[in-house]
Amino acid sequence: MSTKPDIPFKSAVMPQALTAESRLRFRCHKGISCFNACCKAADVTLTPYDILRLKRRLGLSSTELLRRHTVPFQMDADGLPGVKLKTDESGVCLQLAGDAGCAIYADRPTVCRYYPVALLALREQDAPTAEERYSVVQEAHCKGHEGPRELSVTAYRAEQGCEDFDSLNREWYQLILKKKSAGPAVGRPPEASLRLFFMASYDLDTFRRFVLSENFRNTYSLPKALYREVAQDDEALLRFSYRFLRQVLFGERTIEEVAGAWDRRVTQRQEVWEARRQRELERRMAAEDAKDSDGGDGRAS
Ligand code: SF4
Ligand code: SF4
Repeated sequence: MSTKPDIPFKSAVMPQALTAESRLRFRCHKGISCFNACCKAADVTLTPYDILRLKRRLGLSSTELLRRHTVPFQMDADGLPGVKLKTDESGVCLQLAGDAGCAIYADRPTVCRYYPVALLALREQDAPTAEERYSVVQEAHCKGHEGPRELSVTAYRAEQGCEDFDSLNREWYQLILKKKSAGPAVGRPPEASLRLFFMASYDLDTFRRFVLSENFRNTYSLPKALYREVAQDDEALLRFSYRFLRQVLFGERTIEEVAGAWDRRVTQRQEVWEARRQRELERRMAAEDAKDSDGGDGRAS
């Protein structure tokens, strides 16, 4: 699958602009001469919901899933972090189970579901009209385009179970589009924001601990019911993570802060820095004293 999805997905390979009603000629099935050829040149960028599905499927925490099955990359010049599914050195997806095909087929990532269709744009959430646009990728090794079957993009998406994935990823795509279209007006987010983006987008179990921590509760004021929901429900936590990221990246304040929390945090930070400064001073003075007592030549006097 040599689409190189730069989320939201696009491809440089022979794009044809399509709408949801456009028809494409395509059928992929076991027994086709190219079966698995795409998975042997895999370049699969993962979305937050892909990771949620994969961690459930493989029975791993998100942290362990990221460590064992993904590789990091930068999605833009500002270092926005992305993750891809791991392959071997020749590009074969590690989820490929030989001739049997994809070992995680029911939970395969969005890119794999859509292929050979690429998602170019998604409608705004709750927008009255759908404005999704697609393109089709035609690669020489893929024989799925040669059969007689024709169907609409809508039917293809339904067949591949894309909508479940899009509905959980849609807000995240919009976040990234907003970040990209803002360009230099927003500038490179601070390192701390990029780390929060990684955690809230991909490392959901760590994000849950963060949201349920005392520090978070002392900083943000959320209804008790929401805390209960995000403690138990991964999908609810994912939706909350997008809300949190909008606040962190774009200052869209939808999560109320506890009165005085900011001032308290500044004071705490200052106390931490002051303690560190004091320790460093003491360390240097002790080193100077030691130098003086050995006569400056390393020998005790
Ligand atoms: S996850 Fe499955 S479908 Fe996707 S590239 Fe890997 S083996 Fe192929
Ligand atoms: S038809 Fe295309 S998508 Fe299906 S296995 Fe062959 S290369 Fe992959």
